[in-house]
Amino acid sequence: MSQVAADPRVELAERIARLKRERNAVILAHNYQLGEVQDVADFVGDSLELSRKAAATEAEVIVFCGVMFMAETAKLLSPERTVLIPDPRAGCPMCDMAPAEAVRKRKAELPGVPIVAYVNTTAAVKAEADICCTSANAAAVVNSLPEQRLLFLPDRNLGLWVQRHTDKEVILWDGYCPTHQRIRAQDISRLKAQHPGAPVVVHPECTPEVIALADEVLSTGQMVRWARETPAREVIVGTEVGLIHRLQKDSPDKRFLPVTLLTTCPNMKRITLEKVAWALEDMEHPVEVPEDIAGPARRAIERMLEVV
Ligand code: SF4
Repeated sequence: MSQVAADPRVELAERIARLKRERNAVILAHNYQLGEVQDVADFVGDSLELSRKAAATEAEVIVFCGVMFMAETAKLLSPERTVLIPDPRAGCPMCDMAPAEAVRKRKAELPGVPIVAYVNTTAAVKAEADICCTSANAAAVVNSLPEQRLLFLPDRNLGLWVQRHTDKEVILWDGYCPTHQRIRAQDISRLKAQHPGAPVVVHPECTPEVIALADEVLSTGQMVRWARETPAREVIVGTEVGLIHRLQKDSPDKRFLPVTLLTTCPNMKRITLEKVAWALEDMEHPVEVPEDIAGPARRAIERMLEVV
């Protein structure tokens, strides 16, 4: 009698589940992770949701499937836990567009002007900021400040989106997400013509031209909730393609159409199932934040969590 060969991906997922129990670990995954990584996670969410999970977990070990600034945020909020990132090379080019030295220089040029740092920044930049924000709460964070002017960094597109939702003066930093920059207005117009009636939902990291064509501008966590509620059967989605897996799994009766398949974040995709298993087996790669940076950076994140 011939034997059916076991599926190696299923075996790998089972191995990860066993290791996770042995290590008393929790796996947190961002919405942009590969589908098979999302499927082994205990929780999948956007930056704000993952920050809250990291702060509240009882597990001894957090395996963070995302990019480095997210794993750093988890470590800042759970300093007594071991935080592992399966691939420490998973960086963020937008983050790199605001180096700490350049931020300190700009800060000196703007005395008395508070800094609102998108979570897509290094811990060293968060340490320079007055408060952090995510794409889910950026406008609420800005409107919570007593000051009338503020420096928003590093994403100019999110900053422009915030400017539309506040009377304050938002001073922009010239950063952007190369992945969301690939979402083009003409691709949305073409899809709209092919799928009349399908609403367009995009991330606020998209360009103003793309945002002008959208029915909804939402963080990825907000998109997941919105997709459950919408009566639409087809939705055009403008963000990193990993979210399509999450949306389709969450709302299987609807069809989610990516604006383009070119919106893959190569850094997010550095995390694979194999690397998650290796991280748990070898307890690699622990994330550490120097204490002189951790204190002020943690205060900026906690101040955000108090607002929303
Ligand atoms: S999707 Fe954009 S902002 Fe997010 S990690 Fe990738 S490069 Fe950075």
